[in-house]
Amino acid sequence: MSSSYPITDHVYDVVVVGAGGAGLRAVRGLSQAGLSTACITKVFPTRSHTVAAQGGVSAALGNMGEDDWRWHMYDTVKGSDWLGDQDAIEYMCREAIPAIIELEHDGVPFSRTEEGKIYQRPFGGMTTHYGEGTAQRTCAAADRTGHAMLHALYQQALKHKAQFFIEYFAVDLLMSDDGECLGVMAWDLATGQLHRFRAQKTILATGGYGRAYFSCTSAHTCTGDGNGMVLRAGLPVQDMEFVQFHPTGIYGAGCLITEGVRGEGGILRNAQGERFMERYAPNAKDLASRDVVSRSMSMEIREGRGVGPEADHIFLHLEHLGPEVINERLPGIAESAEIFAGVDVSKEPIPVIPTVHYNMGGTPANFNGDVVTLRDGNPDAVVPGLMAVGENACVSVHGANRLGSNSLLDLVVFGRAAAKHCEDTLTPGKPVREVSKDAEAKILDRLDRFRHAKGDRPTAQIRLEMQKTMQAHCAVFRTGEIIEEGLEKLKGTIDSFEHVGVSDRSMIWNTDLVETLELDNLLGQALVTMTSALNRQESRGAQAREDFPERDDENWMKHTLAWRTGAKDVTLDYRPVHMYTMSDEVEVVPPKKRVY
Ligand SMILES: Cc1cc2nc3c(=O)[nH]c(=O)nc-3n(C[C@H](O)[C@H](O)[C@H](O)COP(=O)(O)OP(=O)(O)OC[C@H]3O[C@@H](n4cnc5c(N)ncnc54)[C@H](O)[C@@H]3O)c2cc1C
Repeated sequence: MSSSYPITDHVYDVVVVGAGGAGLRAVRGLSQAGLSTACITKVFPTRSHTVAAQGGVSAALGNMGEDDWRWHMYDTVKGSDWLGDQDAIEYMCREAIPAIIELEHDGVPFSRTEEGKIYQRPFGGMTTHYGEGTAQRTCAAADRTGHAMLHALYQQALKHKAQFFIEYFAVDLLMSDDGECLGVMAWDLATGQLHRFRAQKTILATGGYGRAYFSCTSAHTCTGDGNGMVLRAGLPVQDMEFVQFHPTGIYGAGCLITEGVRGEGGILRNAQGERFMERYAPNAKDLASRDVVSRSMSMEIREGRGVGPEADHIFLHLEHLGPEVINERLPGIAESAEIFAGVDVSKEPIPVIPTVHYNMGGTPANFNGDVVTLRDGNPDAVVPGLMAVGENACVSVHGANRLGSNSLLDLVVFGRAAAKHCEDTLTPGKPVREVSKDAEAKILDRLDRFRHAKGDRPTAQIRLEMQKTMQAHCAVFRTGEIIEEGLEKLKGTIDSFEHVGVSDRSMIWNTDLVETLELDNLLGQALVTMTSALNRQESRGAQAREDFPERDDENWMKHTLAWRTGAKDVTLDYRPVHMYTMSDEVEVVPPKKRVY
């Protein structure tokens, strides 16, 4: 079958899959360093999900009050519920400062203070003096920070002559028999041709997999294709049980209302008009970290204090902020609320509900961007040729719960670090090994099988079934019983994927086939997410198990690794959390109970 696909060959020093903030920051650095760089992306670069990031990007610049990167590190470790690797967190918080200044010089039009410095707003979980005060740490370009970043980075990458392969869909990694990544196989959606990209390093930057769930804030393209490819390559993914629910998705539509709204003074109220966060987080109140606020909202709804005819959501008020703050700092929010909730935010509250927003889990990587795995007892064994950055990766700087504005930061810090690592270790133009015929045939056979699939179940139907199962069985509150039931349903859905039907047989703009390949990736991630959630018998960060309500550091302060060893089989193992720092400029943050 496979012989019927002519393949175009490319060789680069580095190939980056993904043109979101992480991919583009890596591409910018790689091309500037003089490495030949290809960037493959299934959507036009400035349509990547990063474009939707509203609130901002954190860095202890101290432009609007005192700040210190050590406080930022403390907040991030605490936010992670002590599952984050402290060396990587130290690296991120320290490097945040030069990375943001570089963005400024690259042309990101940040909002400004009176003196012309980068404007910074308060965000959930961001404090001064190790939890004492409120930090103003989140650098913002109004409420369109991701949009501004993505455009500036794309322009920089073009300036440095990176090669873009736009609307190319990466199908699978090209792996050697001895486990080295040699590149990636991609499909040019517009011409229908296949392209073999070989490179010394392949950097995965394909973003998160929010679309495994029914209601999420992320784009339809967020299907975690990188993790899907990693699982098919026989490599593990890490900490997939930790799925962040953002407290304020618009009820019904799922669109995000940024935490920046609460940073600017917005308040959550229940049906009795009570500012209930005062009860759950007396100090931080509405600006407690996301897992805490989402759980509190779910409690209010469960106990009958939700708003609306079905008492199933919460109100977010910003009427009291006044038109100046709204127009100047939150114009996009006013527009989204108008369009998606029919609400005039200067007069009425926005109906909101916790909505899937971010994946803390992903492909395990170190702070250089190298993908790591557990091999012969070594938990930090590097997978040759393969790197991962951004939401695709699990470094792990977010641990069990990510703080708002730390993701855009993660993208630029680790995109930059990956480029630097390649610059330091690669020789431009060094030949790359050939890919074995067997490895390639496997990839083409899978593609061909889906292309000609004649079953009676449409892709969209199977996807919806998976999304509803994830939403009902692996959400804010979990119990062993609920997850087990969900896992059984999901396995049934995976079985039925054998009977998928793809109606379009062509290779040109075959969106039916694209969605089927994406669904295959999603099903694998859904399976490992649920299996990992069932396995972890404790509550930590985004994983709230009602049957195991406490955090259990003795048994569970470790990263979950999950391999997909069969269509419905998952093998689990663990990596230790890095409880050490990189330098002696800062001390390890010792575990304690997390209160806000
Ligand atoms: C609505 C919203 C608001 C947010 N606001 C903030 C915020 O204010 N601050 C913050 O810190 N974080 C925020 N986040 C989180 C943050 O924006 C994301 O985690 C981050 O943008 C992910 O960036 P990325 O570069 O990893 O991936 P993405 O931006 O998702 O890009 C993925 C890229 O991979 C490519 N790709 C994927 N699969 C394939 C494939 N098979 N073949 C080829 N290309 C592929 C896509 O084309 C795309 O270019 C927000 C998230 C959402 C959803």
